[in-house]
Amino acid sequence: MDERDDRQPELTTTLHDRSFYGTDRLIYPVLSRRVNGLSVGINTSPSKICNFGCIYCEVDRTVEGGIMKFNADLADTQLRKVLTDIKGGSFGDQPIKAITLSGDGEPSALLNFEEVVRKVIATRDEFGLSDAKLVIISNASGLHRETVKRGLRLMDANNGELWVKLDAGTEDYYKRIAQTKIPFAKILTNILDTARERPLKIQTLFMNVHGEMPGEVELRAYSDRVNYILENGGQISAIQLYTVSRPPAESYVTALADTQMDQVAQVLEGSITVPIEVYK
Ligand code: SF4
Repeated sequence: MDERDDRQPELTTTLHDRSFYGTDRLIYPVLSRRVNGLSVGINTSPSKICNFGCIYCEVDRTVEGGIMKFNADLADTQLRKVLTDIKGGSFGDQPIKAITLSGDGEPSALLNFEEVVRKVIATRDEFGLSDAKLVIISNASGLHRETVKRGLRLMDANNGELWVKLDAGTEDYYKRIAQTKIPFAKILTNILDTARERPLKIQTLFMNVHGEMPGEVELRAYSDRVNYILENGGQISAIQLYTVSRPPAESYVTALADTQMDQVAQVLEGSITVPIEVYK
């Protein structure tokens, strides 16, 4: 789960380059199209371990359902330094629109998810930034965990937003894309249960795999999944549709062309009532 792939190309490199703060930094400022401005990212898996192995991702290791420890105090120290720099004008005068937990792994796999969320909210508010959203970008695999549920409720009360990944409609395509042992049914149940408690955004990355974009059957199955969530009390505020923008893990993965993105959006708009935001 990574928001760096949604960087704005016309903006300066310094802000996008995590090496500005050292490659082992947990915190990195980015200009994000999806939050429409400056976002402070928190990399919840600096070791690049993820429980998915998406073929379009740069992460190159997988673990089965792993629960990860995360140094919340170290992240908080670094977050304070970055917020101080930003407020001091190191990155111009752009307001911070969001603080985002994502990075090279899965935030909902954190052992101490609630603690991390609590600390980020406290620091954000201490810096007078309570208008900045706290966004979690998740593959949904750990949304059933108690620490995650508590953290999400804290976010609900503190300008938080959950963005959940859904890149497939059929089980086969899901397995092909996500390369994980976590069942698709588990992901779908987690999304539904979580969306019954609060509105969430769905993030969908479609791509060409061996030169082939998702076909009609896949797109219909995807629409059915979204509609099932809505018909069963789930709330989805928007779908963010995007494609590959960084070198993917697998060379047979390529970005959809603009015309292909338009084609996909048109099909989905015909079958889903949720607003679709297209990021080409
Ligand atoms: S969920 Fe997929 S895209 Fe996100 S970090 Fe894990 S492997 Fe990469």
